Amino acid sequence: MPELPEVESLAEFLRAHATGHAVARADAASFSVLKTFDPPLTSLSGQVIAGVGRHGKFLDISTDQGLHLIMHLARAGWLRWREDLPTAPPKPGKSPLAFRLALDDGSGFDLTEAGTHKRLAVYLVRDPAEVPGVATLGPDPLGADFTADTLAGLLSGRRTQIKGVLRDQRIIAGIGNAYSDEVLHAAKMSPFKIAASMTPDEVAVLYDAIKTTLHEAIERSAGLAAADLKGEKKSGLRVHGKAGQACPICGDTIREVSFADSALQYCPTCQTGGKPLADRRLSRLLK
Ligand SMILES: [Zn+2]
Repeated sequence: MPELPEVESLAEFLRAHATGHAVARADAASFSVLKTFDPPLTSLSGQVIAGVGRHGKFLDISTDQGLHLIMHLARAGWLRWREDLPTAPPKPGKSPLAFRLALDDGSGFDLTEAGTHKRLAVYLVRDPAEVPGVATLGPDPLGADFTADTLAGLLSGRRTQIKGVLRDQRIIAGIGNAYSDEVLHAAKMSPFKIAASMTPDEVAVLYDAIKTTLHEAIERSAGLAAADLKGEKKSGLRVHGKAGQACPICGDTIREVSFADSALQYCPTCQTGGKPLADRRLSRLLK
């Protein structure tokens, strides 16, 4: 799933390639992709793209007439930029193509979604806060106002495991399963550590790990074409998705804990005092 660094890089890419162009047409390949009906998608035609932003993991393309095309790529979605977009609108069916936006110069992008669980979502709204997932977002960890004190306030009183806290979009916006693994590895912290139990020093370490991990991921992606971001995310990760491989810091074998629909990876030596995490504790993490 694209998380904050990838979505930020996609926004950067679209700012460079799409800003100033008028929308020729926008088409959803199925009814379920488009979550709003007013204003209609056809109203985008002729509007000029004025900016591209991000809210957590949501991409936001704004127009000169005040509309916002907001996109959430979900777990298996991606954006594919094309200099020469096919002129035919997408056909409903089994194709991974979910949405297509064509610009006045023939370029544009496709949103695609692999697999059978279709979760990719597109919204056309006058105010980003009309999108439920945007309205409830916690603070952005890259925002200037996200300080160590902000983080301390978010963790205080939370008797839940830090892995779940980091992934919760209503607490902190933009970090998902992959970067929460990476942040906790950088902070040398167990994913099961209880948020409220952290000392001020531990909060400071976690804060630095969040900022550094996200900034480094964005730097690695800077200047890459949209098509190359996915590969860069995979190769840049240290523990996430690397179970069985050697930890790049200490050489221990990276372990995995599996859940019903996801898994976390961690290094026992770096994060849990050399002890593998017990499976029976996992059910709590899912809640
Ligand atoms: Zn290690």
